[in-house]
Amino acid sequence: MIKLKCAGCKKAEGITVVCSMFGATSFALCDKCLREGREDYRNMVNYISGAGHWPQDINDIYQAEVRRQLKLHGVPEEVFKFEVERAIAEEQAFISELCAGKVDLADVMEGEF
Ligand SMILES: [Zn+2]
Repeated sequence: MIKLKCAGCKKAEGITVVCSMFGATSFALCDKCLREGREDYRNMVNYISGAGHWPQDINDIYQAEVRRQLKLHGVPEEVFKFEVERAIAEEQAFISELCAGKVDLADVMEGEF
């Protein structure tokens, strides 16, 4: 049996699996983090980087929720912006390598599930 840990605080008790408000994914939260409406931080970085650059490409509703999440996680907005830009650069590098035939998707997907 898999022992789930909270995506917000890493606690292993009182765990509930919830869906993300940012995208089609789910993660585990403890009772406290569930009441706070926390998101998995890494998931939030990935979701926002898939939508565009922070904050200019993100609508006001999502900006407000991201800023609320950043306070919950204790992450400065400048750090979040840097991590979103890094995720965009990594994705662009991956797409370039994929288009150049340097990456085999079968190798990438191996071990994902
Ligand atoms: Zn928690």
